[in-house]
Formats: sequence, structure tokens, C-alpha cells
Amino acid sequence: MTRRIRKLLVANRGEIACRVMATCQRLGIKTVAVYSDADRGALHVAMADEAVFIGAAPARESYLVAARIVDACRKTGADAVHPGYGFLSENPAFAEALADAGITFLGPKAASMRAMALKGAAKKLMEDAGVPVVPGYHGDDQSLETLATEADRIGYPVLIKAVAGGGGKGMRKVFGASEIKAAIEGAKREGENSFGDGTLLIEKLIEKPRHIEMQVFGDEAGHAVHLFERDCSLQRRHQKVVEEAPAPGMSADMRRAMGEAAVKAAEAIGYVGAGTVEFIVDVANGIDDAPFYFMEMNTRLQVEHPVTEMITGQDLVEWQIMVAEGKNLPLSQDEIELLADGHAVEVRLYAEDPYGGFLPSIGTIGLFDPFADMGPGQRIDAGVRAGDAVSIHYDPMIGKLIAWGQDREAAIDALIDLVAQTPVSGLATNRDFLLAALREPDFRAGDVHTGFIEAHADTLLHKPELSGADYALAALAVVANRQAGGTDSDPWSAMDNFRLGLPASEKMLFDGADGSLVTVELLHSDAGLVASVADATVSGTVSARSVAQYDTILHVESESGRTRLFSEVNSDQVTLVTTDRTMVVKRHARDGGLDDEMEGPGTIVSPMPGKILEIKVKNGDAVEKGQPLLIMEAMKMEQTITAPRAGTVAGLGVAAGTQVAGGAVLLSIEDQE
Ligand code: ADP
Ligand code: ADP
Ligand code: MG
Repeated sequence: MTRRIRKLLVANRGEIACRVMATCQRLGIKTVAVYSDADRGALHVAMADEAVFIGAAPARESYLVAARIVDACRKTGADAVHPGYGFLSENPAFAEALADAGITFLGPKAASMRAMALKGAAKKLMEDAGVPVVPGYHGDDQSLETLATEADRIGYPVLIKAVAGGGGKGMRKVFGASEIKAAIEGAKREGENSFGDGTLLIEKLIEKPRHIEMQVFGDEAGHAVHLFERDCSLQRRHQKVVEEAPAPGMSADMRRAMGEAAVKAAEAIGYVGAGTVEFIVDVANGIDDAPFYFMEMNTRLQVEHPVTEMITGQDLVEWQIMVAEGKNLPLSQDEIELLADGHAVEVRLYAEDPYGGFLPSIGTIGLFDPFADMGPGQRIDAGVRAGDAVSIHYDPMIGKLIAWGQDREAAIDALIDLVAQTPVSGLATNRDFLLAALREPDFRAGDVHTGFIEAHADTLLHKPELSGADYALAALAVVANRQAGGTDSDPWSAMDNFRLGLPASEKMLFDGADGSLVTVELLHSDAGLVASVADATVSGTVSARSVAQYDTILHVESESGRTRLFSEVNSDQVTLVTTDRTMVVKRHARDGGLDDEMEGPGTIVSPMPGKILEIKVKNGDAVEKGQPLLIMEAMKMEQTITAPRAGTVAGLGVAAGTQVAGGAVLLSIEDQE
């Protein structure tokens, strides 16, 4: 039976909401956005034909309230709902509530979701269907003794998983019997706190794995196909950061076998719609003939679906709409196989600090233009633009940058070009880290595995220090910004120390990384602008061009050649973005009076609002630099706060379980007597 979708409500926010609406607009389907208090000015709201307010900023008071979504459909006459990913996308009760209200859900049947919701039950189901699963224990007996005995039987190292876990949470690696008790308790607690279910499974820890998953699709007539694999092996905290298709080095035989296993998994549960069957591949002896095992099935559209779209030329959201309308899949397996072409790579741009344990960051985005001109094989999927805030309430993903090429090398080059030309400022991001990862020779060679980032920590997780030349560039950016902003279009009038008969000159002050004061001398001469600092001189013809309110492009000439930089200048800092680095230079507050001296470097403040989970020290304890002090949960992640220097713990007043504000003083590390 077919039905037509005329108006579709997207029960999500950010990039996936925008992505779904783009297809609807192309197909002439009206769109409805929903939004929380925090998202009144969000891009997904601006993009939709209609928008409905659904509650306060915390997701559990808005995006996660199924009844509000159903109400919004009634109010606007939407006849279908796309859930995106996360939020309600894998919630069978939500699918049923929509069905009861006569609204089409763009996802599988509630029963399919239930079958795959818990990792243990899903593994059992797959085992019975003849799909290989990671050896392990996924039984009902959850006693500590049984779990410990099973871990022994499986053989260390093992991985403990919360059966209800997701997003890389609720997992613990265990290397020996002495650690098993603590790991079981930790994983159980995380499962209960984050997913409301402390049930665990144990499986063999694969020591050199690759994550390779298959995109599957099913329709109401019972057809099921796959649209090839995606390799998502580059991960931090068990979460994907770089994804690509096809998987480097995967043989046609292995692709066929994995594709068949994935289709078998979909057929076993009568799957309708888009889904992903995730496999883990043991590449200890290389990828050739490597064993692969079913890990889990995600019963929704996946974050990394664009790489599949790029190699098949298909729009997967359009497929979801067709299937939801009761139509047959548009292509058969053989037809899909003929279409596969080239290679695609995606990176996830996150508001997070790779140099600080990937701690999520919040703030207002300065530079970032998801609509910038791009090459034919380049694509940005984003839900924010300059001026938008990344808040504590939602996932810190800013967007995804994707590129296609004839082959893997060309795709990587096109993606490096796209990332290099996409400046982001205003908050810590993983942009430079992504560029370094894409340029890493082992990545280019296709030697990817889930331990890649740790194995290359030396090149990937090291933040370069600011040099003298960087301060000089910052000074040029300040002048360029004045010119481009039009507030001060005559450069000569900007000179503080301008005196007749002398070359116009100016001193600009910045705060050095070590707390020192950095003075840059600016000299305007016929040859252009010369900025000098103790150990460097940079001369620039600052032909600045203001692209947007936040955005200035700077052309600088120095001994090393001509450089093009993006810059954002505000009263506190200058952000400079090159094709490989993002540098934040602090402007010195002339009138002083900042009380940052009062909080010595030993004061530990909460980096963002969150909950204290565990306190590992007490007042009077002597600690070493780098020693864990407390564990807090912020933005859905556990963060370990470590001692910035050696000393004695003092002023610790918070208790485990307390909610703390961003910037709250937690404790201090005083000098040892
Ligand atoms: P993918 O393989 O598509 O990345 P993930 O499981 O990592 O799948 O999650 C996709 C998105 O949904 C991520 O942005 C993640 O933060 C979010 N997410 C995953 N599980 C949950 C959950 N249980 N509750 C809320 N958000 C979740
Ligand atoms: P989630 O629901 O959080 O996505 P998964 O079961 O898909 O949980 O696992 C997430 C990641 O954890 C995988 O992509 C992989 O990197 C790692 N992982 C999962 N199972 C194993 C295993 N048995 N051995 C080694 N790594 C694993
Ligand atoms: Mg997974």
C-alpha cells in the first residue's frame, strides 16, 4: 500500500535536521522543524517552512518528549516524522505513538528496533541467524561471580559493554582478573546512569580491530539490499571521527561475505528502512581473510551516511521517504553494484579540544561558513553558522566535511583542501587535529585501526606553541580588521603614536603563553606594514577582505612567501587560521585590573557545567602533576580532571553527585611546605 508524504516533521536539530530538510525541499515536501528554548535562532528552524516550539533547552524537556512531537504533528498537519539520529530515533514507543496517531515514521517497525536495542539480545538473534558474533558471554545471569567466571573462560583481555549502551559509552577494557570487579561495577553504574539499564555483556577484546559497517535497506515488500561498507576505524573514546567508503584494502570476497551477512541480519528481523550493521574486523594479521564479527545494528540513518551517498550517487533520505511511502526499493542489489564509483571520506568537526583529552568545548562560533563555495566533490553538512552557540545541552558536533575522489588518494586530497579552507573560531575545535590525521602517512597508506589515534599521539595530539611571528601576524590582523570593518577606514588615523615627519608606528600588546607581555611594533611605510616582535619580523600588505561580520581574509608576505590567513578579531583575542593551524592570541587588556592573578595556576575550576561523579583526593593530600583529582560528567562524557602541577590539595568542598556551574572553583593545589 502506498501513501504520499506531503509534510514532514523533523524530530531533531542541528546538521541532521538540515540534511533531511534539504532532500524534502528538493522533492517538494513541506517541512516542519521543532525547537527548544536554546534553538530559537537555529539554522534548522530558519530552513523549515514551519516551526513548533517544544520546550526548554535540556533535551529531556523538549527533543526527547514524544508527546510534544506528536502534538506538533497534529498542530501543523504533518503526515510523517523523520527522527534523525540520537534522540528518539531508536525509541520503539515513539514509533508506536506515531502509528497510533496515524503518522508515518521514517524508520523500521518498533519490533525491529526492540530486537536490536539491547546488544546482548541482538547478538543472540544474530548467532541464531548464522551471522558470526564476537565470542563472549551475553547471558541473563548478571551476578559478579558469573561475569568474572565468564571473563576467565573467554580469556583476557576482554571488553565489558552495557547492553543498552551507545555513543561509545558504558564500555570497559579489562586486561586481567584483578581489574574485573572494578570494571564490572563501573560499566554497570554507567549503564544505569546513562541508559537506565545496568545489564552487561562480556566479549573478547580484539586488540587490533577495524570497525567496518554495512549500510542496509529494506522495504515493505520484503526486499533487502546493502549499499556497501563504511570504514569507521578512526575513533576516539570509541566514537567515530573519520569515516570512509570503500574500506581500504578490503577484498571483493570479504565485501561480498560481509554484505551477505548484513542482508541476512536485516532479513532476520524483517527490516524496513535504513539501517547499519556494524562489524568488528580482527586485523592482527592484516585485512586479507581477516575474521569479522557482528557487533550491533543501528536501526536508523547513520551520522556517516554521506560517504555511502557519494560512492553510490544515491540520496539515502530520499530512499527512506520512498520506503516510508510503501514503495519498493528503487534499485536491486545488482543495480547498486554497478553504480559504485570512486572513494569518499568524511570527518566530523567537533567542538572539542584534542589537546585536552577531547574535552567538549562551548562558545559562540566566530568563523565558520557551511555555505562557502566548494568544489564538485566537496560537501559540508552542518547545522550551525557564524554567530550560533554550541551549548552544553546537545552533542558538540559542529558538522561534517565530506569529499569524493576518483580514488582514495584523490578523495583524501579533496577533503584536506576542504578542511584547510574551512576556518572555525570562537571555541576549541578538532579542525587542526583532523587535518593532521588526514595528512598522517599511515592514514594515507590505509593502515587504519581503532588504536590509530593513540598510536599517533605524538603527531596528532600535540599543540604547537605560538611563535614570535604569530604575534606579529595577530597585530597585522588587528589592523586589517580595522580597515575591513570600515570603522577605521583610514589606517593612518589608527596610529597611537603618530607624529608628523616620522613613519607612523604603533605598539600592540599581547599576553604571552607563560604570562609574559609580548610587544609588537607596527611600522607603516611605503612598502606596506611591518610588524616586529623580539625574534621575528613579518611584513604584510594587509589586503584584508571582510567576508562576513566575523571574517577577514589576510594576505601576508614574509620571507617564507605569501600566506593567506583567515582571521577573527575581537576585543579579547585574535584567531588566525591557516591551512594547517588555528592560533588564538590573547590581546592584553590595557587598563589591567583583570583578577586572573588572584586565581593562581593551581586553582582548579570546573571547565563547564556538569556533575561531579567521583573525588579521588582529599584536602591535605600531596599530588603529582597529572594525577587524577576528580571525575566529572559534562556534555554526556566523563572527564578526568588532573593536577596541573605537584602540590597539596586544599579548599576541596564539593561532594560526589553535586552539580557544578562552569567556572566554579573546585579545589586548589598549593605549594608543598
Ligand atoms: P554513529 O555510529 O551514527 O556515530 P553513535 O552511536 O555514535 O552512532 O551515535 C550517533 C549520535 O547519536 C551521536 O551524536 C551520539 O552522541 C548520539 N547518541 C548515541 N546514543 C545516544 C543516546 N543513547 N542518547 C542520546 N544520544 C545518543
Ligand atoms: P556503541 O553502541 O557505543 O557504538 P559498539 O558496540 O558499536 O558500541 O562499539 C563501539 C566501538 O567500540 C567500536 O566501533 C569499536 O571501536 C569498539 N569495540 C567494540 N567491541 C569491541 C571488541 N570486542 N574489541 C575491541 N573493540 C571493540
Ligand atoms: Mg556502534
